Amino acid sequence: MTAPTADLPLDLPDAQLPGVLGAALTGLYTGEPRLPARPGGREAGLAALRAWTGAGYRERNHLSGNVSRLSMYLRHGMIGIREVAAHARHVLRGRERDEFLRQLTWGEFFRLVLRQEGARVLDNLEEPKYPARWTDALPDDVRAARTGLPCVDAWVTHLIRDGWLHNHERLWFAAYLIHWRGVHWRAGYAFFREHLLDGDIASNALSWQWVASTFSNKPYFMNQENVERFSGGRWCRDCTARCPFRGSYEELEARLFSGRLPEEAPTPRNAGASRRAAPAAEVGAAPIQPTGPTSPRVVWVHGDGLSVTDPALSACPDAPALFVFDRPFLSGTPIAFPRLAFMYQGVRDIAAARRAPTHARVGAVAGELAAFARAHGAAELHVTRNFTPEFTRILEGVRAAHPDLRVVVHEPERLTSYDGQVRRFFGFWKKVEREVLQGAPSPDAPRRGHR
Ligand SMILES: Cc1cc2nc3c(=O)[nH]c(=O)nc-3n(C[C@H](O)[C@H](O)[C@H](O)COP(=O)(O)OP(=O)(O)OC[C@H]3O[C@@H](n4cnc5c(N)ncnc54)[C@H](O)[C@@H]3O)c2cc1C
Repeated sequence: MTAPTADLPLDLPDAQLPGVLGAALTGLYTGEPRLPARPGGREAGLAALRAWTGAGYRERNHLSGNVSRLSMYLRHGMIGIREVAAHARHVLRGRERDEFLRQLTWGEFFRLVLRQEGARVLDNLEEPKYPARWTDALPDDVRAARTGLPCVDAWVTHLIRDGWLHNHERLWFAAYLIHWRGVHWRAGYAFFREHLLDGDIASNALSWQWVASTFSNKPYFMNQENVERFSGGRWCRDCTARCPFRGSYEELEARLFSGRLPEEAPTPRNAGASRRAAPAAEVGAAPIQPTGPTSPRVVWVHGDGLSVTDPALSACPDAPALFVFDRPFLSGTPIAFPRLAFMYQGVRDIAAARRAPTHARVGAVAGELAAFARAHGAAELHVTRNFTPEFTRILEGVRAAHPDLRVVVHEPERLTSYDGQVRRFFGFWKKVEREVLQGAPSPDAPRRGHR
């Protein structure tokens, strides 16, 4: 096992962050070290939440619509899904409120699918609903924003510059890459993972699969009219390119999918049943009850819980806590620097808000946690569960490296109490609608429609 690494300073001002963090994380990121387009951390997340009035959310499918842009804070647990829902209930009314809460529920749905399917969400969950032949690599002209299509090049430019895209831009880009360029959705997933500040295995992989039709009944695609309408014509107005999106839906369907798509392909009744033997992200069988309030303990802070309100941190206010930038994982699949800086800002806020010490390191997470627990004479390691395959892998590594350490897993905050199987959002929504809308759904609450 490698020796534990030195701590990163957790009081770096933003101006020093690219230089110092950039040097510490060399080889683990792509691009130049720079600050994220929006600052990370609970304070910044709360400020963004309070500033969002929601007025005009009904226009959310338009790029000019007042969407919340809270996804990066939600994804890293800097703000909680329940406090966002409470804010929405306070500032929004009627259909607009219901629509926002329904969108928020998509995130919960995807996390539950990840909990159920584990690492399988990175493979086709179902067969594509058309005869697809996909290549594996992201084409160079797409990566370089040089396709010659002003809209596509703008989506790539915004993705890299801002680390965020409007949902409609994500859908259009995904459809372009998969259906027009014939690229496997996994290449798009990896490109988004690299650059999005909210990049998240569940929402990202499953949204790509939704567009590809490997997690939906039909592929999603758009035409030029759709792009023009919801973008306010910003790219189409002066466009001189030969537009591949021009045409009616019927014409495009025939061109892209070798004929007509199934009207409503039924979900295979037992799709995935044979592969669903055990919840993939379950933590091993070891007992996970705390021994008592006084047993020496440490807390593992990870990228899904970057807030002092994280359940494990809240349960252990006096315990030393450790966050680790996962060197082996990031050196295999590096991500753009702004997200690492965004996460650092989250840990920095935690350190400033706690009375017990908080540390950050770069290394192999399991080994660092075991060494940290030993150094503090801890009998327990507390952590809040997440559903990623890495979580399970890391806890197994901790148990191997420190068999005497008791691992106490706290449950993450949920928007709903639903615990059954999940397959399609619509079915899930029917089960949780009343709970999400607080038992008082408006009669005209949206039932179907655009994602
Ligand atoms: C190909 C593709 C990849 C995506 N990858 C991600 C990802 O990695 N991480 C991520 O958080 N979202 C992802 N999304 C979903 C969605 O685009 C973003 O959550 C949304 O655009 C974030 O902007 P917002 O915060 O202003 O959303 P708002 O409309 O203000 O919604 C509020 C919150 O609800 C949740 N939400 C809203 N819509 C969705 C949705 N369709 N799916 C899941 N959650 C939703 C998000 O947490 C969001 O912050 C992806 C969508 C597509 C089509």
